[in-house]
Amino acid sequence: MDNKNLKFFERMLKERLEEITSNINLRNTNLIELYAANLKDQSDIVSANLQGELDFLMIQKHGLELKDIMHSLQKIKNKSYGICEMCDDEIDIQRLKVKPHAKYCINCRELHEKSKNRGER
Ligand SMILES: [Zn+2]
Repeated sequence: MDNKNLKFFERMLKERLEEITSNINLRNTNLIELYAANLKDQSDIVSANLQGELDFLMIQKHGLELKDIMHSLQKIKNKSYGICEMCDDEIDIQRLKVKPHAKYCINCRELHEKSKNRGER
């Protein structure tokens, strides 16, 4: 991948990183407020619990994406970005534009999904 594209994806990944970080912070603040709130009404408590669970799940999900993004930024530094981690082929640029932290090319991604669904590793 040439430098121009590397810079492009580096910027994209960093923007995503900031977005996710602020989203996690926001949800953290939500959780803290939820638990600090002195809820008496049963329906308030139920909806607060649901909201808290959702916030928690989103934080977990974002945390995983954050990990992949950091990994991709590292790969940009050592110039291995855009290379499939399974078959060493180049990952399609269009695919990276949709998912800049993709680790695998589309073929390996499908294989990976299939083997995961069958419970194989
Ligand atoms: Zn591949």
